[in-house]
Amino acid sequence: MSSKQQVESAAIVLDCRDHGESDLIVTFFCQNYGRLTGIAKGAKRSKKRFVNKLEIFSSLRILHTIPQNNRLAFIAEADLLDGFLTLRKNTICYTTASVIRELILLTTKEVEGDEKLYPLLVYSYDNLNNNQPPLQTLILFLIRLYAIIGYSPQLANCLQCGQEVQANKSYRFHTNAGGICCSNCSAKGTSTSVTLSQGTLKSLTVALNQPLNRLHRLQLSTASQREALSFLHAYGLQLFQREIVSWAFLEKI
Ligand SMILES: [Zn+2]
Repeated sequence: MSSKQQVESAAIVLDCRDHGESDLIVTFFCQNYGRLTGIAKGAKRSKKRFVNKLEIFSSLRILHTIPQNNRLAFIAEADLLDGFLTLRKNTICYTTASVIRELILLTTKEVEGDEKLYPLLVYSYDNLNNNQPPLQTLILFLIRLYAIIGYSPQLANCLQCGQEVQANKSYRFHTNAGGICCSNCSAKGTSTSVTLSQGTLKSLTVALNQPLNRLHRLQLSTASQREALSFLHAYGLQLFQREIVSWAFLEKI
């Protein structure tokens, strides 16, 4: 395929910055091409083609070239599919969407598609825009993101003795090992660990394994949400070896 050929993609805007007098450099996450950074020529002047469309979080259909050798794509046109206006009006939804955006930017490379990540991103922003519980949406996103990038947390069996989760034992998640240890085995590990109750483990296993379109039935209690976020945050720190900047804003709310 010629690098000049234009294709159409569904895309979410992740980042947008000025470039010179009249252009914008925009980073998208696309269904077919994953993360894609392109230049929208004259976007600051062209009211018709781009105005009010290239906002962070917006869902678009874009016409673009496929960039090669680390060059920028050329963004020819953009049509707004959903501006997620409700999400933007609510501080906690907006902050949650920012954490999700930061994690996508952190865990993906340019033009490296993943068929599961785009639907997960759209599902998460749809949820936030439709008044679904924002922290639960973040939990679902995080646990599935970790699985997509190859670090699915092991929540079904104790990492040390291998036994399945049992009602009479308590469990801690060990971030170094990426899984849970039962109360008989936990003392052997020295890494950061977070207690996960039976109820939380059960909900998280569902969150990890059920198809996205069936997850709306899942309801995590406030206590389970707190446990889950605490383990997913600690596990993320271990995986990425850095803090998620927007997480600090989430903790302030
Ligand atoms: Zn054990």
